[in-house]
Amino acid sequence: SKATLFDQNSKVNITFADVAGLDEAKEEVMEVVDFLKNPKKYTALGGKIPKGVLLVGPPGTGKTLLAKAVAGEAGVPFFTMSGSDFVEMFVGVGASRVRDLFKQAREKAPCIIFIDEIDAIGRARGKGAMQGGNDERENTLNQLLVEMDGFSTDKGVILMAATNRPDVLDSALLRPGRFDRQIGIDRPDLNGREAIFKVHLKTIKIDENLVDAFTLAEMTPGFAGAEIANICNEAALIAARLNQTSINLDNFNYALDKVIGGLEKKNKLIN
Ligand code: ATP
Repeated sequence: SKATLFDQNSKVNITFADVAGLDEAKEEVMEVVDFLKNPKKYTALGGKIPKGVLLVGPPGTGKTLLAKAVAGEAGVPFFTMSGSDFVEMFVGVGASRVRDLFKQAREKAPCIIFIDEIDAIGRARGKGAMQGGNDERENTLNQLLVEMDGFSTDKGVILMAATNRPDVLDSALLRPGRFDRQIGIDRPDLNGREAIFKVHLKTIKIDENLVDAFTLAEMTPGFAGAEIANICNEAALIAARLNQTSINLDNFNYALDKVIGGLEKKNKLIN
């Protein structure tokens, strides 16, 4: 089940070096890393560490990656679940999943719990009831609020969540002592895209004379990190299919067309 521990025994091997750009966001979450490593340093002075950190930004910009990197940097387990998994659950299941998740996390503290697409469970209560309602979602949200109130960060559990719809969230989630810290994650600018390409070019075999991160960044205005990762992978597959020994700029151009085509198809389905 998706609500179980991401990877119980092995450490998360993602670090800040894997997260390109997002310098301000990284700086903000450094505090969480430091707390997870030295909780006593903070509690000794009576400081209260935020319980919940909400990462806000468009899809594919590295929110999940950043949360994992916090766990990786701190050397703690990473528990994850996605809000959308709860949408079609039978009555009672969502709430008990949330309970299980927090129980497991408390046993493995210090650790991070990450809830992706929290808006799927965290929509304002009482809204949408006209379209058939969703009591299960409300039960799940209520259980989440209960769990958040029931733990204190001295136990070393920190909740992180991601959304691209902060406007629809139930205000109860944003109250002090819950997700009272918000970090914005934007689509990368030219420099950001160059940095992301640099990370992803490291793991594929490019022809260094023909391909460079800056040129690729210039070719991809508006792209998010997930799309950049995708282009790099597609380019490698195209070059392999052509029996090349390294990846050239033509391969990237084809990959770019393919990824843009895929995005257009996705948009057509949505519109
Ligand atoms: P969603 O909201 O759709 O869940 P997200 O913001 O959580 O998206 P991720 O799942 O973290 O996005 O990103 C998907 C993949 O895209 C990452 O695993 C990584 O390969 C790549 N990626 C995204 N952002 C970055 C970044 N800033 N640096 C390096 N790689 C990135």
